[in-house]
Amino acid sequence: LLLAGRKAERSVVEVKGVSIGGREIILMGGPCAVESREQMSQSAKTVKDAGGKILRGGVFKPRTSPYSFQGLGLEGLNYLVQAAKEQDLLCVTEVIDRQSLDLVVDKVDIIQIGARNMQNFELLKTVGSINKPVILKRGLSATVEEWLLAAEYILASGNQRVILCERGIRTYEPSTRNTLDLSAVGVTKSLSHLPVIVDPSHAAGRRDLISSLSKAAIAAGADGLLIETHPDPDRASSDGPQSLTPEQFMALAQELEPVADSV
Ligand code: PEP
Ligand code: MN
Repeated sequence: LLLAGRKAERSVVEVKGVSIGGREIILMGGPCAVESREQMSQSAKTVKDAGGKILRGGVFKPRTSPYSFQGLGLEGLNYLVQAAKEQDLLCVTEVIDRQSLDLVVDKVDIIQIGARNMQNFELLKTVGSINKPVILKRGLSATVEEWLLAAEYILASGNQRVILCERGIRTYEPSTRNTLDLSAVGVTKSLSHLPVIVDPSHAAGRRDLISSLSKAAIAAGADGLLIETHPDPDRASSDGPQSLTPEQFMALAQELEPVADSV
C-alpha cells in the first residue's frame, strides 16, 4: 500500500468547506434512489434540519434484479443537484461506468463507487483521473486488504481524495441484510491514512437497527455516516425497509450528538 498505507498524519478530505476525516463527524443522508423533485426537496430539508452536510441519492442504480427500478438517470440527477442547492448541502451519487461518470462528474460534489463495483478496476482508474472526492464502498465479500487495494487504484491514478465506506459484508447470518463489520473501522485506520465512514443502512437492511449501529460506528472511530432516509419509506422504490422516516432521521441526529462529543 504505497499510497493508501498509514502515514504520520491522517488525511482529511476537503470538499467545498466540508472536511471528512477531521474533528467533526459528517452526517450524509438521503434516499437510496432519486424518485421525484418533491421527494428530493423533502429529503434535503430533512438532512439539513438534522445538521447533515451531504445529500445522497442514486440515479444510476446497480440493482440485483434487472426487473427492479434502475434509477431516473439524468432527470434524477437534476432533482438531486437542485435539492442540494436549495438547502446549501453538498451532494453525492453513485456511478456505475464511465458513461454515468461523464454525465454526473461536473454536477455533483462527491462520486460514489458502490460495493458491486469495488473491484471494477477500470472504473477505479477512471475515477482516479478526476478531480472530485470518491466514496469507495467496501465490496460485498471484500477483505480489508482488497478494499484498500481498490483505494490504491484510485490514488495511484492521481486522485488523492478517497473516503472509505464500510457498508456491511456478506456472512452466514441472515437476520440482517449484511453484517456490519465495525472492526473494519479500526483496522482500516490502523493500516491507512484515509478517512472511513459507515453506512449502517445497507449493512442492517432494516431501520430498527440504524440508531444503535450508528452510535456504535461513531464510538468505533468512524469519520461520518451515510444513512438512507425517505419522506415515505413504505413507498420507496428501493431500500424502503432500511430507510428512516424524516422524524427518525432527525431523532437519530440528536441521539448522535452526545456520542460524537464523547469520542
Ligand atoms: C447505495 O448506496 O444505495 C448502494 C447501492 O449501496 P451499496 O453499493 O453499498 O450496496
Ligand atoms: Mn440503497
